[in-house]
Amino acid sequence: MSIIDSLRPPPGLRVLVSAGASGIGAAVALAFRETGARVHVCDIDGAALERLAREAPEITASVADASVPGDVDRVFDDVQGALGGLDVLVNNVGIAGPTGAIQELQRGDWERTVAVNLNSQFYFSNRAVPLLKRSAMNPSLIAMSSVAGRLGYAFRTPYAATKWAVVGLMKSLAIELGPHGVRVNAILPGTVEGDRMNSVIGARAATAGVPVEAMRAAYLQKISLRRMVTTEDVAAMALFLCSPAARNVSGQAISVDGNMEYL
Ligand code: NAD
Repeated sequence: MSIIDSLRPPPGLRVLVSAGASGIGAAVALAFRETGARVHVCDIDGAALERLAREAPEITASVADASVPGDVDRVFDDVQGALGGLDVLVNNVGIAGPTGAIQELQRGDWERTVAVNLNSQFYFSNRAVPLLKRSAMNPSLIAMSSVAGRLGYAFRTPYAATKWAVVGLMKSLAIELGPHGVRVNAILPGTVEGDRMNSVIGARAATAGVPVEAMRAAYLQKISLRRMVTTEDVAAMALFLCSPAARNVSGQAISVDGNMEYL
């Protein structure tokens, strides 16, 4: 195989993407579909899944809350039926969590952030690893962390704590699964353009008491390349990590963030 050909994931990969109905997850699911992969997504939002199904009817789907173990079990029943096994898990689900000073945060908001961002990573990995070990297709697990899993993030402590935890889980799993030929990596997206970031910037502007546009300019000032990333930038990294060219890449926390200097 030429080096150029080795940069594409092989066709026919069986891929599961959590929270795949919109945002980064949908971009990843659609990108894998373009490579000829068989893709299953799950998401808590049934209407968003219906929109994805209209765009990509061959992508199968389950409505599921990734933080609920029974829902995750149902996803894996659906994966077994739709794909008959698994070569790639993209553990993408994650919520922004609350914004505020530590003494103002509500316990329920902390617990929900941990449940969605961290517990889900365990539930999905716990069910996926036996399937990945049986794969003969250069199997790989990709955990979605964040630049907030590399830098401290004041007033977003639940989010940052869970995203650092995702990196710790990934690095440990990479050691555990390497001898079985399963690679494990994390992608750390930076500021992704779109609705989610607009609401994050809005919330931080409100917390800091500054205009939204001033907060947006402050965000770009932190990025060496002075631009946000797109969901496709993140999807491209996921494809690379599942290509033969990445067959010796494991245990890495890979930033796609234009070099975010601080948060
Ligand atoms: P998003 O907010 O656009 O949501 C994507 C999907 O997640 C939605 O379809 C939503 O319904 C689903 N979802 C939410 N809670 C769920 C749950 N409990 N169970 C199942 N599905 C659920 O998310 P995004 O911005 O695409 O982020 C995807 C991942 O990337 C997350 O882990 C996030 O932390 C990470 N990330 C995002 C950014 C960014 O700027 N957007 C930056 C760094 C990291």
